[in-house]
Amino acid sequence: MARKVLVLGEVRDQALRNVSFEAIAAGKVVSEGGEVVAVLVGEGVASLSSELIQYGADRVVAVENTKLNTYTPDGYSQAVLAVIQEEKPEGIVFGHTALGKDLSPKIAAKLNSGLISDATAIEVAGENVVFTRPIYSGKAFEKKIVTDGIIFATIRPNNIAPLEKDEERSGETTVLSVDIKDLRSIVKEVVRKASEGVDLSEAKVVIAGGRGVKSEAGFEPLKELAAVLGGAVGASRGACDAEYCDYSLQIGQTGKVVTPDLYIACGISGAIQHLAGMSNSKVIVAINKDPEANIFKVADYGIVGDLFEVVPLLTEEFKKL
Ligand code: FAD
Repeated sequence: MARKVLVLGEVRDQALRNVSFEAIAAGKVVSEGGEVVAVLVGEGVASLSSELIQYGADRVVAVENTKLNTYTPDGYSQAVLAVIQEEKPEGIVFGHTALGKDLSPKIAAKLNSGLISDATAIEVAGENVVFTRPIYSGKAFEKKIVTDGIIFATIRPNNIAPLEKDEERSGETTVLSVDIKDLRSIVKEVVRKASEGVDLSEAKVVIAGGRGVKSEAGFEPLKELAAVLGGAVGASRGACDAEYCDYSLQIGQTGKVVTPDLYIACGISGAIQHLAGMSNSKVIVAINKDPEANIFKVADYGIVGDLFEVVPLLTEEFKKL
């Protein structure tokens, strides 16, 4: 059954986040040959619409308003709900990002709709669109279908491959004017933490350190390896709690969920709460001096050894490539 599906284009620093293109690919599956309409919300965002179309969106609706230049839950929900009212989609897909996690339940509640969150795969089986999502901190997966109403889902970043970019593709962009009113919160200033290098949530390579790195300085060899591989540095909660690094690097059940092509765990024991954030990575390498460490159970390659010897050796070898 062909459907009209709305997908949210996420913008950061005037550029589209990769998850927007993944949402379009997911939207295509849900649409079953119907129309995929991408939504952009913000100020000066309509100019980004051609890229969404090149990645497979059929049309773009941009809600432009100075009150939307930074994310606020009530501002964005007013904007997206106005587009939903106008377009009347039968499916909606957001990224399961910090923004998507915050916004999607609000929209679902307003629409009196259900929500399938954190989908890692979508397929059409017979009459149904089937979503796969992790449960029990990633220990098992469940399959879900929507039997009634709008098919509304969020997708985990880095799991659904974007369609190939086609620079010849064209489509219409409409700018929708929405009167954003009664904002209960406004963002006056954004003070950013200095962040180094690649965005952890979207990185293709993640080098993560645990309590085994022993100090803030112990992260330096990991940073060097990440720089050589063009990756990002992450951490276990053990390392964050010990104040070796910032909590923004925490991966796991109460941290970020990452699914890079390569995850190198250095001095991380592999507690279930950590695995919840990384066990879907494509290739997992674990470096730990304890051969019995739990992390080896999920690792594709295990190196039993001292990370302070192994990591610099890896860096030297990768530099040669
Ligand atoms: P440890 O368990 O202390 O492991 C350190 C490892 O380093 C050991 O395996 C040791 O053999 C190895 N090692 C030491 N020195 C070296 C060396 N020189 N070379 C190589 N290996 C070495 N944890 C998370 O990570 N993310 C979460 O989101 C998270 N959420 C949680 C939520 C709840 C509700 C709870 C209760 C816990 C949560 N935790 C989370 C904590 C989790 O249970 C573990 O305590 C934590 O992951 C342990 O971190 P770690 O592996 O770095 O430390």
